Amino acid sequence: MGWLGLAISSKHFKLLVVGGGAGGLGAASKLARKLPKGSVGIVEPHEDHYYQPGFTLVGGGLMNLEANKRKEAKLIPRDATWIQNEVVLFTPTQNALTLKGGEDLSYDYMVIAHLRFDKIKGALELLETAGVCSNYSPFHVEKHFQEVLTFKLNSDEEYSERTTTPSTPSITPSSKVFMNNL
Ligand SMILES: Cc1cc2nc3c(=O)[nH]c(=O)nc-3n(C[C@H](O)[C@H](O)[C@H](O)COP(=O)(O)OP(=O)(O)OC[C@H]3O[C@@H](n4cnc5c(N)ncnc54)[C@H](O)[C@@H]3O)c2cc1C
Repeated sequence: MGWLGLAISSKHFKLLVVGGGAGGLGAASKLARKLPKGSVGIVEPHEDHYYQPGFTLVGGGLMNLEANKRKEAKLIPRDATWIQNEVVLFTPTQNALTLKGGEDLSYDYMVIAHLRFDKIKGALELLETAGVCSNYSPFHVEKHFQEVLTFKLNSDEEYSERTTTPSTPSITPSSKVFMNNL
């Protein structure tokens, strides 16, 4: 649908939240209680929601990923609308975005709460190679523990691990340090 059609046929929300993780759901839950029913939309493609703080234990081999999984449908705030799709294009000058499949949504206010590995050049390809993993992705966190075991097995010398904390802004920089202590 083009922009000419947007005003008459797109779905409009007072608040549109992109990403139904802990951050997006928290914002949606708080504001859905204050706004009229149907004012808040949450765009989230996945049926499963993951509790990321538990990933420290998954990557450290003390908990399985399944234990951190919940059905997204059960977590959507009562008065909010779940749009099970992903955003492929943001057009902030029009207060609008486009979903996979071409549908447009418009909003008065938007909260973006999602991490995009595909926006980091080469990240997705690297994550599929040996020796590279991330505790921030449910699709790669289990690989972390496998890599630790492989590294230990292949180490001739006594095993030791070093952790660094990035100087750039980061979500929970301390989680890498926790991991080292496990
Ligand atoms: C190992 C680890 C340990 C942590 N420990 C703690 C802790 O002890 N205490 C604490 O407070 N915090 C902790 N955190 C941080 C906290 O878990 C995160 O900050 C929080 O979960 C992030 O929530 P989010 O909603 O921003 O992102 P996410 O939970 O990553 O959710 C993003 C959502 O966006 C969706 N999405 C992706 N692409 C699109 C798209 N194109 N369109 C629509 N949706 C999309 C995804 O499917 C996903 O559901 C930890 C994080 C990690 C990784």
